[in-house]
Amino acid sequence: MRRNTLLAAIAVLAASLAQSGAEHAAAQTRTTLDIYVVDVEGGNATLLVAPSGESLLIDTGNVAPEAAIRDAERILAATQDARLAQIDHLIVTHWHGDHFGGLAELAKRIPIRHFIDHGANVQPAPAADDFIAKVYPELYAKARHTVVKPGDKIAVAGLDVRVVTSAGETIKTALPGGGAPNPYCASFKPGENNAEDPMSVGVYIRFGRFRTIHLGDLTKNKEFELMCPNARIGAVDLFLGLHHGLNSSNSEVMIHATHPRVAIINNGTRKGGQPDVMRVLHTSPGLEDLWQMHFSQLSGQEYTVPSIFIANMFDDPLTAMPVAPIMAPPPGPDAPPPPAHNGPAYWIKVSAQTDGAFTVTNTRNGFTKTYRPNGRAGTN
Ligand SMILES: [Zn+2]
Ligand SMILES: [Zn+2]
Repeated sequence: MRRNTLLAAIAVLAASLAQSGAEHAAAQTRTTLDIYVVDVEGGNATLLVAPSGESLLIDTGNVAPEAAIRDAERILAATQDARLAQIDHLIVTHWHGDHFGGLAELAKRIPIRHFIDHGANVQPAPAADDFIAKVYPELYAKARHTVVKPGDKIAVAGLDVRVVTSAGETIKTALPGGGAPNPYCASFKPGENNAEDPMSVGVYIRFGRFRTIHLGDLTKNKEFELMCPNARIGAVDLFLGLHHGLNSSNSEVMIHATHPRVAIINNGTRKGGQPDVMRVLHTSPGLEDLWQMHFSQLSGQEYTVPSIFIANMFDDPLTAMPVAPIMAPPPGPDAPPPPAHNGPAYWIKVSAQTDGAFTVTNTRNGFTKTYRPNGRAGTN
């Protein structure tokens, strides 16, 4: 009996030594900024892990009870792949169910140390209002809570993370590398938006010479305020999110003026990737590749990218993608459900180096591509 207890104690000790050894080794061997674009079915969940091991998660997937569990598990899998023991900073970009939805479930699975948002919800909705009144305060009571404004920095060791939009406001002065007159402003056409999307917390992130941006669901009219008449944000290497590839965002003043080399859309099976957005992306100067979280029926074969760049299919995959895009059905209770994808999900992983080189990997098919620093002198 005593011998068994001793053996058990030794086993526990050995396991915990192995665990801390692995974490220590991870901290020592990490040299890249790793970004996981997690499939949360047309919502958003983007995890950034600095070489320091410090992490920043942007959004937590969908709100419906089963979707919240599914999405929290998918995010957790990414944290495990990155060998994280906690999420150091979480940005809730805005109070829509496809962004804060999995938060309560995720918080049951991994500690979250810092909660960041734009402040009060401005588009009353029972699920969001209930969450903000009852659940959210309990989560951040045990952690830090920050309401950010444009110009704020988020302290993540090894990264320069700047808030460029929040609560409907934008930065008023250009970031380093920005400030040039924006030639796309003259042809800008205003878009439509709901109340919460324009409130999105948007961040610009620099790691050495590598630059990326994630604007939540920021809409066209705010893109104009941010980028006109002078582009307050200069060139980026990687554009993340793109509001699921929806038409209410992604104007040329934003996309073309920042000339990303790579864009990754967090679209769903029948959300985003409409022809108008795909035209803007496919004509963006200097864009080398567009990667998609999903096949989207709204793109059809006509507008989508080769499937080698697409991370996820449907539970019932089609043998061939129809050439023509379909129109999204009008929203409401009569709309047929989009093609389901509750089975195995794949993230797109980006690994960036301080010299600006970065590699993008589609974990569904193992396809990987490296983008070497291209020395675009003067565009910063
Ligand atoms: Zn999916
Ligand atoms: Zn959204």
